Parts: sequence; structure tokens; C-alpha cells
Amino acid sequence: MPKVNPKISSKPLAEKTLLIVGAGKSGKAAANLALKAGADIVLYDDNEGSITNFKESLEEKYIDRVSFCIADTKKIDFIKISLAVLSPGFPSNAPIISEAEKYNIPLISELSFGAGFLPCKSVAITGTNGKTTTTMLTGNMFVNAGFVTHVCGNIGYPVSLCAVSAQEEDMAVIEVSSFQLERIGEFHPIIAAVLNISADHLDRHGSMEKYINLKKRISENMDSSDALILNINDKNCLSFSKNAKPNVYWFSSTGEVERGAYLSEDKLFISDNGNKQLICPVEEVRLLGSHNIENALVASLIAYLRNIPFPVIRYTLRSFAGAEHRMELVGEVSGVTFINDSKATNPDSTIKAVNAMRSPTILIVGGYDKQTPFDDMANSISASRVYQVILTGETSYKIAESLKETGFTDYIIVDSLPNAVKEAMAFASKGDVVLFSPACSSFDKFKSYEHRGEVFKNIVKDLDVGR
Ligand code: ADP
Repeated sequence: MPKVNPKISSKPLAEKTLLIVGAGKSGKAAANLALKAGADIVLYDDNEGSITNFKESLEEKYIDRVSFCIADTKKIDFIKISLAVLSPGFPSNAPIISEAEKYNIPLISELSFGAGFLPCKSVAITGTNGKTTTTMLTGNMFVNAGFVTHVCGNIGYPVSLCAVSAQEEDMAVIEVSSFQLERIGEFHPIIAAVLNISADHLDRHGSMEKYINLKKRISENMDSSDALILNINDKNCLSFSKNAKPNVYWFSSTGEVERGAYLSEDKLFISDNGNKQLICPVEEVRLLGSHNIENALVASLIAYLRNIPFPVIRYTLRSFAGAEHRMELVGEVSGVTFINDSKATNPDSTIKAVNAMRSPTILIVGGYDKQTPFDDMANSISASRVYQVILTGETSYKIAESLKETGFTDYIIVDSLPNAVKEAMAFASKGDVVLFSPACSSFDKFKSYEHRGEVFKNIVKDLDVGR
């Protein structure tokens, strides 16, 4: 069992009852943290399976301090509850949330709850696209500089889990989603970065304005000794600098900034107090594409602000190969390179992927229909190195229409991913790239984008074996 951090036991939770909403990975971690801190808990979920799963893993000494509730909110004695902790996947309009609000129970996200117990400093990274890549890259910078580093949050590792083992001198690098910002509580990172803001998750947040305002909340508890990093080329981020309490730093992949990190003449620089310092030439960055240069600038700037030496920053940029399913190099078959970008679940990420291509490219695209428009993506495809498109999945015909409107007619529609790869191979010549960047969610035919990416990689491996 992990050692309980002394700070956890000193939190004034003993003899309080917490409502933990959601019994998935985050909810479980929050429940265990609350129990270690001395609280009683009520664990709520709509799904019996998740509750059973938690019961099976519960340590015997805690059994008397936990009660369970499945779907029926009437069984909860809200009067007893001091705080509710919400799992990120839980719908914000769920009846249990409005019930808790009726009783004026403070509601916070699992991320904020866990972060309240972290004895170490934390940096936070948010944005519509690039969070995971930048969080991992930043985490690698700290690891390479010798820190015990906790890479956590939306990346799939709950902050509440890290809080149990983290020590004061460690560093936490936290990926933060807009869902977790809805209930930010007292979350206070010393550095926060907002990478970009484009339309996404509007089904949950209602409007673009609400979504932007949520992202802005990342710096809500920060003060003048902290740093806020913003994208100078993103009009939605610009307003965040107004009346910001933390010091604002900018990043740009299109030209110099006075204070921050930028790309100029194919070199990455940090600029601070009129002092320009070279990080490295752009070709040294191992990640592909201009979007990844932005991620590299942000990670480098965070590292610089924590006094990580330039050689460590440079070494990390040269060695970090990226996260799985994001512009991931799968391998080469008969001189054709295959790239898996299954995490491209919106058109903007596919635009970035096609723009990153430097060789003649065959694009495999399409998936679950989220009702997003494809016109901008079709324009980018027409103007890129893509010479053949293979459409597959529910959105095939919609994307075909958008391509036709731009005058791009070199596309075919196929009924499955294996056939898409087969057709791509038939078109490809030595030196070409086959890019799988679906621009859509995976739920038409797959369990998740990870599952879709694995299927793609296995098809490519079989091609290689079958040569
Ligand atoms: P997130 O965690 O925000 O979803 P990821 O790092 O997982 O971000 O990347 C998701 C998709 O977005 C990938 O297809 C990737 O190539 C693309 N992407 C990564 N960084 C950026 C960026 N800075 N701007 C736009 N798209 C990006």
C-alpha cells in the first residue's frame, strides 16, 4: 500500500462525509484518497458494474465508512454531505448534480480534489488540441532534469492517485480538460498553458462563449508569482491576458514574441526581458508538423520557467517521439511510410496532420458523424501534398461532398479500414506516405480511438508480414 502523505491526513476531512460521483477510474481514486484522509464516503454511479468493481477492490478497514448508491438519488441523505467530487465523464446535467446543488453542497472536479492534496508544485496544460502531447513532452523535460514527475489528469491517470505517493520536491504535470474546469474549486497551478481553442464539445457546453470562458478559468486561482502561457495566434486566447493575475507569456510558431517562446527562421527561441536564447533548430524537434512545434515551444517555455537547463530541453525535443495514436510512425512497407493519427477526432487535427506532410500522401479519413462541417478540411486537403483520399466510415459521403466542392475528385469510398489500407497500398509508390487521420470519432465501428489505432497498426503489420 502506498505511504499516506502526511499532508493528506492533516486535511480537515475526518468525520466529514463526501459524495463521490462516478465510480470509474477517477471516482475510485478520489474515493480512496478521501478514505485515507479520514472521510466517510457515499459512492454514486448509474452503473451497478462500476460500483461492484469498487466494492471488490475496497480495503477491509474502510468497509464501514463507505455507502453506495446506484442510480437512485433519493436514497442519499444530502444533509450529511460536506463536499461532492465529480468524475470528469459525468454529464454536468445529471440529476444527482442538480440535487446536490439544491442542498448547496460545494461541487468540485476529481482533478481539483486530488490537486488539493498534492504536496508538490504543479503545472497545468489545457486547450482543444495538443494537451496530451504537450503534457507528455513537458513531463519528459522534468524527468530528464531529474525530477520525480507525476504526469496526470485528463491524460488517464487521476490526480487523486498521484496525491497518495507524491512528495514535496516532485513535480506534477497535469492535463486539464474543459470538463474538469467546470468545477475548478481551488486548483492552483504555478504555471498554466492554454494551447488553442477551437470548436469542440459544444454539445456539452452549449456555446463557444461558454467553452472559452471555461478554458479561461484555468488561471482563476493563480497570482502574480505564477505564469500563464497563451497562444498569440489564437484569437480566443488573446482576451485571457486582459486583467490576468499571473504573468503572461506568449508562444508563436509564426514570429517573434517579446516574452515567451517562438519559432523564427526555422529556429526555436525563448525570449525573456529582452534576452533571446536559442533552444534548437526546428529540424531537431522529433515530433512532426507545425502544430507540434507549438507544443514543443510550450513545453520548452514551461521547462525554462522552472529553470531546467537548455541542454536538457534540447535533448528532450530531440528524443521525444510522441504519444501513441498521434502522428505515430507505424513503419515502412515496400518503401511506403505509414502514420497512425487515430486521435485526430476533429477536422482541425486532420488539417494539422495533412499540413505536416512533406511527401506525396494518401489520406485515409472518415468515421463517426459528430455533425461537424468538413469544408475547411477539404480546402486544406486540396492545398496539401495529399494526392489521393480513401474515405471510410459513416462520414464518407459527407466528406466526399466537401471534397467535390473544392474540385478535388481523387477519392474513393471503401467499406472498411482493412480495405482502405489495401487500396492505399495499391495507389502508393516508394517514398509516399499513407496517413490515417480520421477527423472524426471512432464510434461508428470501434470502441475508442485507441482501438481504431490498434486495428490500423495491426493491418499495417500484417501487410509487412504478407509481403
Ligand atoms: P488532446 O489531448 O488535446 O486531444 P493530443 O495531443 O492527443 O491532444 O492530439 C490530438 C490530435 O490533435 C492529434 O491528431 C494531433 O496530431 C493534433 N494536435 C496535436 N497538437 C495540436 C495543436 N497544437 N494544434 C492542433 N492540433 C494538434
